[in-house]
Amino acid sequence: MDAHLARMLTSARQCRCCGATFAQLLSLSCDRPDVCSDDLVVQDNSAVLEERGDVLTEDFCRYGKLRFVRAVLALPLADSRGAEFLLGTWASLNEDDFDAYLDLFDMRETESMGSRPAWLANAIPPESGAPVACMLHMRPEGEYPELQVSESNNALARLQQTGVQLEELLELLYAYGHDLPSLVYDS
Ligand SMILES: [Zn+2]
Repeated sequence: MDAHLARMLTSARQCRCCGATFAQLLSLSCDRPDVCSDDLVVQDNSAVLEERGDVLTEDFCRYGKLRFVRAVLALPLADSRGAEFLLGTWASLNEDDFDAYLDLFDMRETESMGSRPAWLANAIPPESGAPVACMLHMRPEGEYPELQVSESNNALARLQQTGVQLEELLELLYAYGHDLPSLVYDS
């Protein structure tokens, strides 16, 4: 493993903005799809069945004609023996797939859907532009489905295939507002 990366993964230094260690920052989470209004409050999952119209829950979002489910986008870290940067993000599905997913979710049988086309519904990094075409791979036993970028010329697709270099990872964390000097350098 890259020595600098190994040191950072076990470092107790904390980000000055949020108090998280570097290892903790390896999972970031978006609480809603980018298009979803900040006015919508995150509710329990039952609200997606009980309410009509726009709704945001922990794992589902219905917004106008759009349908979203919570998903994970994993970026392997280069030279790390399997460490990943995990983004808790949102996938946009067509309505039929969304309904099927919703039906299977409580029974923890979404894996039977296999893989479905989806759009990454959060710009990664923030402000990076148009939605990205993906495949959404269902996972067993209540695990979040995983997004795999399918646009081969997209920067995220390259990062998924070849792994993220430490410098690129630091740039990503910086784009999410974290205070890198407090994590990277001894004070
Ligand atoms: Zn921070």
